[in-house]
Amino acid sequence: MDREVAIITGGSRGIGRAVAIAMAKRGRDVVINYSGNEGAAKDTAKECMKSGVKAVVVQGDVAAHEDCVKILDRAVNEFGRVDILVNNAGITKDNLMMRMSAEDFDSVLNTNLRGPFILMKLTSKIMMKQRYGRIINMASVSGILGNIGQANYAASKAGIIGLTKTAARELASRNITVNAVAPGFIETDMTRAMGQKILDEMCSQIPVKRQGQAEEVANAVAFFADKENGYVTGQVLCVDGGMCM
Ligand code: NAP
Repeated sequence: MDREVAIITGGSRGIGRAVAIAMAKRGRDVVINYSGNEGAAKDTAKECMKSGVKAVVVQGDVAAHEDCVKILDRAVNEFGRVDILVNNAGITKDNLMMRMSAEDFDSVLNTNLRGPFILMKLTSKIMMKQRYGRIINMASVSGILGNIGQANYAASKAGIIGLTKTAARELASRNITVNAVAPGFIETDMTRAMGQKILDEMCSQIPVKRQGQAEEVANAVAFFADKENGYVTGQVLCVDGGMCM
């Protein structure tokens, strides 16, 4: 039987890397997209292949329409199908709203929201023909609670929740589920950039009193990606140590 195929955007590092490895461990071939860090993407692929699956890497900026086409073409040319799309790639360009440039606002929205929209639009065509698919979008607690200094990021992540619910409604009859995972503070390069003092302060306010691990987010993604979970769609699952309850 053909193995399922999963595309993971931003699969070179952090949460995306953990998701790619989780997919591979569950027997899926993986397409690992990255933006600039080819070495890290190849390393993730190597780790995935230890599970006996195929793994390919593809460079592409999800903010660019033609790169989204390239990522999908690579998956189809290599494997002939796409069962799972994980829109994970994301960036931050934090600043107080008063100081935030319109360029930084657009840039974050283009990567975090427009990119997933284009990829969902393109991939769902294939999934509709297959009459099967699983789409998982990476949101954030910032998109639910808002966060000082993250007007652009919070808007992109709130937007992805609306996009997820709309796509879930539009694609449900074709056996395609669309769900979102909303991580809290997860230990990756993205949060390491905040500095230890801020992280310690943040952790003191999280009910479980610690940062989450990328693997803990990957487990939630794996739940939504499972063929057995076709009756769960349009949901947002917070993996946040209790921040959003
Ligand atoms: P990360 O460690 O900074 O890794 C970001 C990943 O995205 C890298 O693989 C990077 O590729 C890729 N990427 C960045 N811009 C891209 C673009 N334009 N096109 C394609 N790939 C791009 O981030 P992370 O912490 O793992 O976060 C992953 C996702 O979870 C993001 O959507 C983020 O918003 C969300 N999230 C994270 C946290 C957290 O606490 N870490 C919390 C809530 C939500 P290169 O390696 O090539 O640069």
